[in-house]
Amino acid sequence: MTKSKIWLSSPHMGGTELKYIHEAFDSNWVAPLGPNVTGFEQDLENYIGNNSFVGALSSGTAALHLGLILLDVKAGDEVICQSMTFSASANPIVYQGATPIFIDSELDTWNLCPNALETAIKDRISKGKKPKAIIAVHLYGMPYKIDEVRSIANKYEIPILEDSAEALGSTYNGQKCGTFGDISVLSFNGNKIITTSGGGAIVTKNIDLKNKAIFLATQARDNAPHYQHSEIGYNYRMSNICAGIGRGQMEILDDHIAKRRAMHDFYKNIFKENSAITVFSEPNENYFSNHWLSAITVNSSLNEGKSREDLRLLLETENIESRPLWKPMHLQPIFKDAPYYGGTISENLFDIGLCLPSGSNLTEEEKKRIKNVINIF
Ligand SMILES: *Cc1c(COP(=O)(O)O)cnc(C)c1O
Repeated sequence: MTKSKIWLSSPHMGGTELKYIHEAFDSNWVAPLGPNVTGFEQDLENYIGNNSFVGALSSGTAALHLGLILLDVKAGDEVICQSMTFSASANPIVYQGATPIFIDSELDTWNLCPNALETAIKDRISKGKKPKAIIAVHLYGMPYKIDEVRSIANKYEIPILEDSAEALGSTYNGQKCGTFGDISVLSFNGNKIITTSGGGAIVTKNIDLKNKAIFLATQARDNAPHYQHSEIGYNYRMSNICAGIGRGQMEILDDHIAKRRAMHDFYKNIFKENSAITVFSEPNENYFSNHWLSAITVNSSLNEGKSREDLRLLLETENIESRPLWKPMHLQPIFKDAPYYGGTISENLFDIGLCLPSGSNLTEEEKKRIKNVINIF
């Protein structure tokens, strides 16, 4: 008999989601817009704080796309983007007809390398084009080097589009991720720390920008009794049903974070005697990661030649899902012609890194199965 599948990260309902969906049905608010959308936005604004304004959208990708539009990214522009990330960080640059400029990672947070970032900005300016925006990502929930990246952005007066899709609940110096960008983005996709089955949000510093985002997300209708349009619009708003799931999920977000962090501790404990394996952890006490996914790097030369891939395949035979780290964008076939700045840090991490089952809903039995396989390895 095959053992039941242990997933990397699966949806985890808290119980009150259905109540909000029932309310939507009972009041016939089965539409984008409605009290759950407003309620979910308020919950998120209260949670991330820092005088943020939140607009709920159909996905994190849609939020990134609207973020670029609000930052006036147009055809022919250049936008800087962390190379090691999910393709959704970079694709909206291309939707706008702009060119992505990819940047290597640094080893502390695996995110945007400040040195490579500044080198890239200087070089692009010397070639005649100042980048229009910097997309910085908190990979696996780990905040990027907030102070360093911000000071470079300010020095060259380039806005930051903060991709906080994986980092709801993470903090840097006590401030929540999702509030560090000039514009920021959250995701509630099925595998994220909370889910609305599919959804995302844009975070702005003022109400006008939020309203502009919502205007664009609802087909850019001018104020007229008929349908009139002076701008290109999108169908990017979150539905009242999905927002109902989000409201229920907000009630258990902090509990999910505690459980994800406990998974990280679980792996730290398993691997503490093994000098060949490093569990990806906060570089110092200023950083607080939600540990959306627990990740490790495997140094095969210290591990009798056994590599990341050996562990991944071993887990797979036991029906346990694990996955290599995000493949850097500058190594992706679709982006092979895009400019790239930096060395081989992200490439090396991709070669030796592995994400392990990290869900907030893993049972003791499942953890035992994971531990057994790792012990064999
Ligand atoms: C999930 C994710 C996105 C995209 O969010 P969706 O809601 O799936 O569109 C963007 N960036 C990163 C880093 C992500 O992990």
